Amino acid sequence: MLREVDRPNTTRSVIVDKILRSSDGSSAKLIQIIKREGIATIESGRYEVGCESIFCLSTQIGCGMGCQFCRSTEPYEFYPGKPQRILRNLSTQEIVDQAFNTFDDVPPPQESAGIVFSYMGMGEPFANLRAVKDSIRQLGAKYPKSRVTLSTIAFNTVGIRELADEVASGMYPTPVKLHVSLHSPSDEQRQQLIPYASSISETLDGAEYYAKTTNTVVKLNYVLVAGFNNDKADAEKLGALLEKRRGLVLKISDLNSNDNKSVVQPEEADRFESWLKELKVETCRFSGRGKDINAGCGELVKGKRNL
Ligand code: SF4
Repeated sequence: MLREVDRPNTTRSVIVDKILRSSDGSSAKLIQIIKREGIATIESGRYEVGCESIFCLSTQIGCGMGCQFCRSTEPYEFYPGKPQRILRNLSTQEIVDQAFNTFDDVPPPQESAGIVFSYMGMGEPFANLRAVKDSIRQLGAKYPKSRVTLSTIAFNTVGIRELADEVASGMYPTPVKLHVSLHSPSDEQRQQLIPYASSISETLDGAEYYAKTTNTVVKLNYVLVAGFNNDKADAEKLGALLEKRRGLVLKISDLNSNDNKSVVQPEEADRFESWLKELKVETCRFSGRGKDINAGCGELVKGKRNL
């Protein structure tokens, strides 16, 4: 049965079923029901970074990309008894209504928010690019002080270049930034984590094109997995890969996992970052939030991950 949080008789295509808040107040997670199916759910989140609120929105119902550190990897029963990884793409209206619900129900303390597709939400935005682009236009018109980030595994580098050209030609009302998953300096190893990503050279070419064309910095997501991608040789390979690239910053993140063997300890992460700094690789750090409500990175969809 459809339920609504404090908003009866809504005409929106997506309605809020539950809101969970983390104990430290830094994060909130909304579980939202898609009206068309009546039972399929998507999840969106809000978390605070410094003085900024970040809204992570879903772009698909589930995700077919199968990244090994993400809970979207496991088939999910959108319909009871029918487990599947992905049900379908969200429509523009559903993406926008999901955002409106999130702004209404967990409003940012400031007037503006960063809107991220999808990051802690569900889905690969470049797999539903037309609806995502239309949503950026509509959300930018409604929340003009906001800025948008697309986070992608880089399976569609043609789409990355097209978007760069459109952003540069002023087709969007808000700034549009890009985050791209790297996660390993070796193609073979990277494929184990993000099987549908383009090759590393194609990914970095696309990311560099975006940075240069839009005059923005592109962040390369790098989630640390103990004993897999965090030794000195990995840092040296990253140094060689990024040496001549411009406009790219390596964003080092913690792995959200119940398996402590895969989680890199803070001092090891510090050491990895210091190797990179010695090699003149520009870095930044990110720690997941909202872990107590399963709203950390890759945790929004219920289910089991392989890491
Ligand atoms: S990390 Fe993103 S692209 Fe990969 S499975 Fe999860 S939601 Fe999909």
